[in-house]
Amino acid sequence: MKPLILLFIVILLSGFDSKKEINKWIKEDISYLRNLYIDIHKNPEISLMEKETSKKLANELNKIGFDVTENFGGYGIVGIFENGDGPNILYRTDLDALPMEEKTNLPYASKVKTMDIYGSEVGTMHSCGHDMHMTVWTGTARALIEKKDQWSGTLIMIGQPAEEIGAGAMMMLNEGLYSKFPVPDLGIALHSSPTILSGKVGFGKGYIMANTESVDITVFGEGAHGAAPHMSIDPIVTASLIVMELQTIVSRNINPLDDAVITVGSFRGGTKHNIIPDEVKLQLTIRTYKDEVRNLIHKRIKEICDGIGASVGLEKSRWPKITMPDTYTPANYNDPDLVDRLIFSASNSIGNENVVMAEPQMVGEDFARYGKTKEKIPTVMYWLGTVPEDRMNKYKNGNYALPALHSPYYYPEVEKSIETGVLVNTNALIDLFNN
Ligand SMILES: [Zn+2]
Ligand SMILES: [Zn+2]
Repeated sequence: MKPLILLFIVILLSGFDSKKEINKWIKEDISYLRNLYIDIHKNPEISLMEKETSKKLANELNKIGFDVTENFGGYGIVGIFENGDGPNILYRTDLDALPMEEKTNLPYASKVKTMDIYGSEVGTMHSCGHDMHMTVWTGTARALIEKKDQWSGTLIMIGQPAEEIGAGAMMMLNEGLYSKFPVPDLGIALHSSPTILSGKVGFGKGYIMANTESVDITVFGEGAHGAAPHMSIDPIVTASLIVMELQTIVSRNINPLDDAVITVGSFRGGTKHNIIPDEVKLQLTIRTYKDEVRNLIHKRIKEICDGIGASVGLEKSRWPKITMPDTYTPANYNDPDLVDRLIFSASNSIGNENVVMAEPQMVGEDFARYGKTKEKIPTVMYWLGTVPEDRMNKYKNGNYALPALHSPYYYPEVEKSIETGVLVNTNALIDLFNN
């Protein structure tokens, strides 16, 4: 055999061996990571209140030799590990949970209650899988440090607060993420998928998640006794007209080939059965991909509110007040070349059959911002399958809807999801550092 071919085979085999070694190490670390997952799941903290969660993760990185900066942009964490020459790679997890009661009946379900922004006590739950993201993030850091002789470069681990309110990435970037720390050459993140089986991962190319924005509408009226509606201009009825009319924007104004969602997620007004209030507040979420669709939606919301305000007999100064956001969470764009590299690496880690292509979705994620600064770093967010096999089988047999993210019934298959996430990420980062 020619010496060159022999050398090539030796390199290939040693690569194969080192992969096997990593897999073995990760399998042995799962019980540690499972405990961490349960701990995080049982102790959720909502956006901007992630104090203990953040400390916990900072501690995990400190233990394995990262240079950690805490409280960076709210409760953000930046962990740097310099490991010789090579690219700077950013890997981000989010930290926050949601203000909702968990209804999974799991033995480790969260019983935590928190005061929400309206001053009412609400249940608190990791129903978006951020507990899984943190566990996989920690597991990947542990595996990469354990195998640090296999890669070189600078690893930038980000623990980002306030993802659920679309604020955390901006808070960390505004605090100087790219000026006080090395500028990344590329960035990755994963998100739990409520529709992909655990053991698999999913990739999308180009736009994978939507522009998302929150719009507030205050509907004014004239209050009166509930028994004297003729003395009032009832804002509950006016707001109801607005909610119904908003349904026609997507169905009648937008090109059916374009994507858009308008959801009224909150409708608040009144204090008592027999009082017609003088104000109702609506909270909307809007999802789009194209700017022209977004602009058309803004225009139609204004026309509908003005028109209904006039039709119920309100003075022009009392027509519904619309508060459009100054900023919005931009759509997530997965860099196609980086997706190809990650698919190649994931297929080597867990097999072709466990790597699936995923459809774009109308959910939003502020991870998009890390790629939208002047540095224009390529980023990819991919889906980590988390659906337990029994749930998937029930779904396939019909008459059962898989619980979505933000559902009080959502939960991931713990060990298999952790193992798959850590395996795919560790190998992906090693490959990205080395190529
Ligand atoms: Zn979420
Ligand atoms: Zn999320």
